[in-house]
Formats: sequence, C-alpha cells, structure tokens
Amino acid sequence: ETVIVLFNRDLRVRDHPALAAACAEARHVVPLFVLDPAVQNRGRAGFLAESLADLRASLRDLGGDLVVRRGDPVAETVRVARDVGASAVWASGDVSAFARDRERRLARDCRTERLEFRLFPGVTVVPPGLLKPGRGDHYQVFTPYWRAWTVTRWREVVAAPEQVSLPPGVEPGVLPRVRGRPYLPGGESRVWPRLELWLRHCLTGYAAGHDDLAGDRTSRLSPYLHFGCVSPLELARLAARNEDFVRQLCWRDFYHQVTYAFPDISRRDYRPRRRDWNEDKEAADAWREGLTGLPIVDAGMRQLAAEGWMHNRARLIVASYLTKTLQIHWRTGADHFADLLLDADIANNSGNWQWVAGTGNDTRPNRTLNPIRQARKFDPEGEYVRRYVPEINSIPDKSIHEPWKLASPVPGYPAPISAVPQ
Ligand code: FAD
Repeated sequence: ETVIVLFNRDLRVRDHPALAAACAEARHVVPLFVLDPAVQNRGRAGFLAESLADLRASLRDLGGDLVVRRGDPVAETVRVARDVGASAVWASGDVSAFARDRERRLARDCRTERLEFRLFPGVTVVPPGLLKPGRGDHYQVFTPYWRAWTVTRWREVVAAPEQVSLPPGVEPGVLPRVRGRPYLPGGESRVWPRLELWLRHCLTGYAAGHDDLAGDRTSRLSPYLHFGCVSPLELARLAARNEDFVRQLCWRDFYHQVTYAFPDISRRDYRPRRRDWNEDKEAADAWREGLTGLPIVDAGMRQLAAEGWMHNRARLIVASYLTKTLQIHWRTGADHFADLLLDADIANNSGNWQWVAGTGNDTRPNRTLNPIRQARKFDPEGEYVRRYVPEINSIPDKSIHEPWKLASPVPGYPAPISAVPQ
C-alpha cells in the first residue's frame, strides 16, 4: 500500500511522526508538498524555497524524493493520491484557521475518495488542545499553562526513517526558485550545525544574556521552528536543562493552543478593547520606515527591514510604542511584521501583538513599556542603536537614546514624531 505524507510547516526528516509512521507501516511513501498560491510567503519565500530544496536532498539520500505540486493543496493531494493509487493521506496537524480549514477539506475529500486521513503531532512540543484548565477549553494565562506543560509527559523523539520507498513513475515536480538569499539559510541540514553550536556555547548564558540587545545572544531559531526545519519537541528535549530557554518554547506552544481555540486571533481582539484606535497614517509610515525619531524604536524597525528578524526585546519596545504610545491598531504592526519576518507565524505574531496591545493574554493589559528606560537598560552603551541607525553614530553615549536633548539637531535624523514618555 501507498501513503502520502503531506508536508506543510514540518520540513524535516528527523522527529517527523507522520513520515516515520508511513515509512514503518507502508510499502511505498509519497512525501508531497503543494505550493499554494493562496499562501503569501512574502519575505519568507526564499527561506521556504531553500528549506524545500534541503528536504528534497535529504529524502533523495534516503532513496525517496519530495514530490512538488502547485495549486490547491486539497485538490492536488487527491489528484496525486489517485495517480499513485494511495490508500491514505497523513500530515502533521496545525493550528491556524487557514490550516484547519485545509485539514477539514482534506478530511472530507479523503472520505469521498475512500482514503484514510490522519493527523500526527509535530508542530508543537505538546499538542494544542491536550492540556485543558479546570474551566474552559484552553489556557488563557501563561503561568498555569507553563505549570501544566512542564509536568506533562512529552512524546518520545522519533528517529528519521532509514529508507523512503517512492512508488515507481511519480513525476517529482519543480521546486520554487530561490530569488535572493534570505538572511539565514533555510533547511534542516543548515539548522543542525548552528543549533548544536548554540546549545554547546550559548545555552548556559541564555538567562543572563537574552535581553541584551547588542549582545544578540538568543538562538535565532525562530524561522527554523516556524517552517519545522527543527522539531520543537526535539529541541525542547535537548535544551531541557535550561528552564529559561525551554520556557520560551512553552510560550510558543501557549500561543499555538490559544490560536487553536480562538482561530480569529489574527483579525479580532481576543479581549475587546473599549477605546478607538488612532488612524494616523503618517505616524504609521514613520514607524514602518524606522523614522520615528526615537533611536531604539528606529533601530528595531531597521533591523527588521535589513534581516527579516528582530530581537525579542526590540519587538516588545516597537510594538508597545505603536499600540500604547501612538495608539495605532496592533493589526497595522502585525501585518508589517508578517510582511518582513522570516519567522512570521499566525499564532506567535498575533498572540504577541495582542499581548503587547493589551487585547490578548496579558494579565496586566494596561502596562506600557517606557522606550527610554528600556533602551537604557537593555542597550546601555547604545551599541544596538548605533548598529542600525548610523546617522546618530557619533552622538555621545549619554545622549544616544535621546538625541533631541542635544543643543543642536542631528543632521539627517528626525525629531520625535510623538511626545516621548518620561
Ligand atoms: P529565542 O529567545 O532563542 O527563543 C527560542 C524560541 O522560543 C524562539 O525561536 C521562538 O520559537 C520561541 N519564543 C521565544 N519567545 C517567544 C514568544 N514571546 N512567543 C512565542 N514564542 C517565543 N515569534 C515568532 O516565532 N514569530 C512571530 O511572528 C513573532 N512575532 C512577534 C511579535 C511581537 C510584537 C513580539 C513581542 C514577539 C514576537 N515573536 C514572534 C516572539 C519572539 O520575539 C521571537 O520568537 C524571538 O525573538 C525569536 O528569536 P530567537 O529564535 O532568537 O528566540
């Protein structure tokens, strides 16, 4: 018998429960990826293309291939299933409204075609929906979720298959072309050397260094986790000795289980807000372009534009500035992040934006981060700001975060577009 393993954002061969089960149980396996024109990968297209090429190379090494098609994933999967005479379609279950609609349509069409359709874990450490509080269908607050998550028995890591046996005569199809190099190289075989180095040399210093903007000591694994080039479960097991780091992976799971229960998360307030938002197009443009006149905000926004990634502390600062100081809708910020981030994720992006904006899962929704105090604390010498905002490079350290206090304005750098919180 033949099983189709439909890949989506689980682009790896290690710890891939659906692939491992198919290779163990079926005579033939068709690893399939369908490029869906409805999914806009925007800034992520290059990273995705590299990750797919890498996955194809790994599957070829195992004697198989990655079969690539274009179009509606449901229609294309059924078509391939008919072509190869498959009896089942297996995939890793995902959380967003878009992904779950695809899963529902696949389940329906598979039923019509008499194909078995099965979903496996693999996108999170603990499957969404597994942990439930005493009341309600999901955890709305992080700390109780963290407590439940740490005492749950995680599944075991599954080994990569030793062999992938493709049925004869399947046309492999063409991979998307990589246009322009992404800032980080995509793919499972690219992430492992980085990951091992990071675990060996940086994990121990994570708690002390992860908020240091200039030190840049976080793992930068988020794009790999987004596309599933590395299994979050395998990573959590490898890093288990460091609670501070594993806690971040739990945040990821937390927002995934919120999204699973509240599929509208990217469009609708999780907790409705009572005040109107400020529709200031000019201020929003200045924020996007990194021209607000607040060096710490501008540095974060320019890092995003240059690297397709931004340090978490900077994400918090720029998001708080947009939603709490400028009072501009969090969706304006989330959409811009979604355009540019290599790691943009419905669950993590919307969940974090709503958290900062006070419409999400924060138990203190009115907190506002003071950008100047944050800058002094997490970039005390202004090294991060100087790296991304060269216009203010030569300002002395004591004024680096408040250039408007200098006797004369800095040529080429704007005055603050808003009142600056003191
Ligand atoms: P590390 O510190 O090394 O953490 C390891 C992993 O834990 C990350 O790769 C990520 O998968 C997870 N993680 C860490 N912090 C969080 C968090 N707060 N929420 C959820 N997961 C977390 N992360 C995304 O992956 N995609 C997004 O689209 C995204 N948008 C964000 C928007 C805003 C406004 C904010 C404040 C945060 C956002 N984050 C998002 C969370 C976080 O900033 C990034 O995951 C992190 O900066 C990635 O860098 P890293 O891999 O070096 O993280």
